Amino acid sequence: KELDDFARVASHDLKEPLRGIRNYTTFLLEDYEDKLDEDGKTKLHTLTKLSERLTTFIDDLLEMSRVGRVELQRKTCESSQIVNDVLSTLGPWLETENATVEVSASLPPVKCHAVLIDQVFRNLIANGVKYNNSDEKRITVGWRNDPEMGVVFSVKDNGIGIPERHAANVFTVFKRLHGRDEYGGGTGAGLSIAKKIIERHDGSIWLESEAGCGTTFYFALGNNEEVNNGPN
Ligand code: ADP
Repeated sequence: KELDDFARVASHDLKEPLRGIRNYTTFLLEDYEDKLDEDGKTKLHTLTKLSERLTTFIDDLLEMSRVGRVELQRKTCESSQIVNDVLSTLGPWLETENATVEVSASLPPVKCHAVLIDQVFRNLIANGVKYNNSDEKRITVGWRNDPEMGVVFSVKDNGIGIPERHAANVFTVFKRLHGRDEYGGGTGAGLSIAKKIIERHDGSIWLESEAGCGTTFYFALGNNEEVNNGPN
């Protein structure tokens, strides 16, 4: 709780001077770029990139904290609708990445906080595309009914896979298994935010993978008895 309060306050206090730094860098570039030599220009552009990266980190930290505090409103939702919304906003990017997403026709209704579960699907689908060297990137969204956990969703990719020794690390905040700018870059917060969202639902998230053969992420949302009628 203390760490969360600290993160929230520090993040707000950090964002303001950071915005100032970014603004002044932009002014410098606008007014003086043509007077600088190549080395000076490169340094200013690097300064812009670094402050943008720091802004993204702070935003992710704030998002972690927000997800921990937001009132969890569980409503019965059509999970197929949530996934369709995600796909319609990711559509143009999926096309440029030559990625196809196959969605099970019978995704079930679940009781969940739709906006947060949208974020989970979005992160898992985007990761399946990002961490993928296949010529044709294929993501499959499916589900099964588990006698103990209820609805278990799956997001499977044909990407680079995750070595077993790193399986738990990927859920650690700001932990990336790759270099900072590799595989499209990222802060390493997405999966820890997803985990927090699932845990807020009293559910669980885990993965199965074989390095080089793709990864399947699974998540269960707990407490879905009333709407859980089993697969068609
Ligand atoms: P980000 O994508 O910003 O780095 P995430 O928290 O979403 O952050 O993922 C953490 C790390 O887990 C990634 O940097 C990547 O190394 C690994 N990872 C996540 N999803 C996959 C995937 N589907 N296949 C292979 N590696 C993955």
